[in-house]
Amino acid sequence: MIVRFLQWLFNLNRSVNYYAYINSPAWKNIARRCKVKAGMRCKRCGKSGTFYSLHAHHVTYSRLGHERLSDLECLCAECHERVSR
Ligand SMILES: [Zn+2]
Repeated sequence: MIVRFLQWLFNLNRSVNYYAYINSPAWKNIARRCKVKAGMRCKRCGKSGTFYSLHAHHVTYSRLGHERLSDLECLCAECHERVSR
């Protein structure tokens, strides 16, 4: 019982940290660089960021908080939804 509670607390803490990071200037900066590097287009379907919102998708979470640009892929909302499933 206590183990399950601690696991729950650990997961809660992890997701709180994740959401804090996703809203941080550091994340916004690298996400923007990812989109600029991709030419403001979705890497999968080529939709333009002028007409569609673009997301920086984590190819890997292994460097979460200090990602390299190669850890991210610029995707439109639709392709992001597809790869996240
Ligand atoms: Zn796309």
